[in-house]
Amino acid sequence: MSFVVEFNSLPLEALVKRSQTTGVQAVRESLAKTKLSLADFANLISPAATGLLEHMGRRSHAMTQQRFGKVIRMFAPLYLSNECVNNCQYCGFSRDNPILRVTLSLEDAKREAQALKEQGFRNLLLVAGEHPKFVSNSYLKDCITALHCDWPGISLEVGPMEAADYRPLVEAGADGLVVYQETYDRKVYADMHTAGPKRNFDWRLETLERAYVAGFRRLGISPLYGLADWRFEAISVAAHADYLLRNCWKAQLTISLPRLRPSAGEFQPLTHMTDRDLAQLVCAFRLMFPDVGLVLSTREPAKLRDGLIPLGITMMSAGSHTEPGGYTGAGKEKIHHTERGRIVELASGASEWAPTPKNATNATGQFQIADERSAGEVAELIRRLGYEPVWKDWDAALTA
Ligand code: SF4
Repeated sequence: MSFVVEFNSLPLEALVKRSQTTGVQAVRESLAKTKLSLADFANLISPAATGLLEHMGRRSHAMTQQRFGKVIRMFAPLYLSNECVNNCQYCGFSRDNPILRVTLSLEDAKREAQALKEQGFRNLLLVAGEHPKFVSNSYLKDCITALHCDWPGISLEVGPMEAADYRPLVEAGADGLVVYQETYDRKVYADMHTAGPKRNFDWRLETLERAYVAGFRRLGISPLYGLADWRFEAISVAAHADYLLRNCWKAQLTISLPRLRPSAGEFQPLTHMTDRDLAQLVCAFRLMFPDVGLVLSTREPAKLRDGLIPLGITMMSAGSHTEPGGYTGAGKEKIHHTERGRIVELASGASEWAPTPKNATNATGQFQIADERSAGEVAELIRRLGYEPVWKDWDAALTA
């Protein structure tokens, strides 16, 4: 049975209601258990649980250290292309946004990767918009093949594929796949995705299962917080994680915690999630899933990231750029301006997100990052907190 079938039969409405109205006693009872159900998880993310947040934080901290040790795994996103055939209202790369676009050549990608390697990274996340012409399967395979010898850990965040299309990418050296569902609310999903293959909610929801069949052994999931009610999203992604742990048990699972950031298109969040909500959610995920990696990106500001590390975060990006060529300026000479998917010559800049291509130092980024510290500065901070930044995915290195 696929997760889509299980998802459709979940009592989501009742679980969300529980997460909004449960009392302190029910939260205490959930905290006393060693194995939590979805109903317990709903209790832990409730307003009633905020009074017990310190206690949850201590438990979450201890459990994380026991399962993961005092280490934070470092990774870096390398954007290959910001061409995209989808219109996703919240994304800077959305097809109709008038922005500066480029797809890196193999040489460009190698140059970008080398710059990241020099910063210490050995764990790479290759990111690209969904565009069969620019980001073909053979292009992705060539990129992975070119980078694999230097990079023991390569994950992908690209448009969903069939299992048969994933296999050559696994054989070329990719071992991880990240697919954000964006929102688990079908109505909001339909409103947000107005054009392109991404409109198919179920196809996307089953992607990790196809990836597992194809051989990926590191799987990453998440909603994008800011589209639907955060408690609804958290319960849904918890159900998704629970399904993957039962059915794709040979894979390591990570859950990310991305909140919307400003981007081209000027989309405004539809819902709000406070910093305290985010901290509570980190603890609830850890208590529900002791062995699942929790990922925090540079979408969050430095101070908040530093504060969330001891609560249960196990993996972080640092010094990130969300535009192709962002680390070295690679691909600069091919940058072009597009409007509604067509290349348009511009005499002057179109917006703050897209100056004239001739003057541009880089293509347009997917979103603004909030933590602008370098990888070295973040690593130093991690050490000061008593943790060891780990740059290499040892498991992948040992099985390669
Ligand atoms: S979220 Fe992904 S699919 Fe949607 S516009 Fe952005 S890059 Fe394209």
